[in-house]
Amino acid sequence: MFQSHIVVLIAGLFALQMAVVCVVLRRSAGMDRSGLTSWALGSVLAAMAAALAAVQELRPLWLVLESSDLALLAALSVMAVGARHFAGRPGRAAPLLALNLAAAAAVAWHDLAPQYLAVPPLMPEMAPLLTMCHIALLLDLARSAWPSVPATRGTGRLAALSLVLIVIAAAAINAWTVALPLAAVMQGGAWPRPMPWDGELAMLNIFALVGVSVSFALMAHDRLRRMLERRARHDDLTDVLLRGAFWEELEAACLRAERQRKPLTVAFVDLDHFKAINDVYGHLAGDSVLRHFAGQLRKNFGQLEVAGRLGGEEFAILMPDTALEQGRLACLRLATAVRATPCPSEPDPIAYTVSIGLAARQPGEGADALMRRADRALYDAKLKGRNCVSLHPAGSEAGTDGGAADGHYITRGQPRAAS
Ligand code: GH3
Ligand code: MG
Ligand code: MG
Repeated sequence: MFQSHIVVLIAGLFALQMAVVCVVLRRSAGMDRSGLTSWALGSVLAAMAAALAAVQELRPLWLVLESSDLALLAALSVMAVGARHFAGRPGRAAPLLALNLAAAAAVAWHDLAPQYLAVPPLMPEMAPLLTMCHIALLLDLARSAWPSVPATRGTGRLAALSLVLIVIAAAAINAWTVALPLAAVMQGGAWPRPMPWDGELAMLNIFALVGVSVSFALMAHDRLRRMLERRARHDDLTDVLLRGAFWEELEAACLRAERQRKPLTVAFVDLDHFKAINDVYGHLAGDSVLRHFAGQLRKNFGQLEVAGRLGGEEFAILMPDTALEQGRLACLRLATAVRATPCPSEPDPIAYTVSIGLAARQPGEGADALMRRADRALYDAKLKGRNCVSLHPAGSEAGTDGGAADGHYITRGQPRAAS
């Protein structure tokens, strides 16, 4: 066996390994619609293409000369379908299936009809047609992967970029090998038989497929990692940060505020009479109210602020670069919006209110002490009749009654500032 045949077989083994990698990634929860099954199948077909290319001289008479190219075309088609699924625009696979069937039929007729039916071939050479199909599919892969380049960061972006670069390079080399004979034919010459760089092109295409499989597996792995990280930090029901993740953000924000000498305000929010909502409307409706409130949080606070669910119906909002007064106004807006927008439900929307306790970080104050003061202010808001915003004034110890004098009411029945 020639050295080049062994190299092609090694590429085939790599392709098989990539099929295993895709299957393993596919088994992770949440990865069932990311095109990995197609890529596993595509890698097996690429391995088959490598095996057929390696044993081309030994092939039986009935096996067409372009069998390796056909397997490669099938591999590329299946991978193109997978890449479209990964990009979230699956489209229809039927045109690609038709392309493969047509190519297989054309190649079979071209190679076998003169042999068995004594009919002259329709075209002198099939390889350029197959190469053009390869180019189209390579470009389709690039089109599917390209949106991931600006949309992701880190490994995901690098993997998407490498996939796009490999397919564009492979498409350019494929185009070059067709362009030269095509130019010669247009000037009245004959198709060269075999095509120039025929063996090298097959090897390059197989290695390119192994390369894009590695890139695709890295893209899928990056998506899986991000998904797991997100699940570990976010609450399923409300999609705000879980307690632990919120606490990490809070501690980091306290250190940052201390270093930069900037204000930092936290709000402790509790839904009023939530147990009664559960009792009257049921727990599922209660869950809808929690989701609805999280929506209000997102609507009323921007990118800068961080919201977390500390447990049950208790939430917290971290407001970096925000002084107490600014935080109070933002929380009053939130409380007003909550009161004005009942949670849609059947048969009637569910009206609810929130109580909010606020505290601004003092120099040297850590996360625990700051949250204790906000909690104290919340307790004060509850004492003052709920549906209000209460402040824990600077200077008073956490754990003491920080509620200042009675609040300035906005209007009767509206959320009010308790102190
Ligand atoms: P207050 O105005 O004093 O805050 O009264 P409350 O009824 O809101 O507070 P309480 O602590 O008595 O009740 C909280 C309820 O929240 C009790 C618990 O069953 C409910 N709860 C906790 N987690 C969830 C959840 O994930 N979904 C639903 N539907 N209810 C929850
Ligand atoms: Mg409550
Ligand atoms: Mg509570």
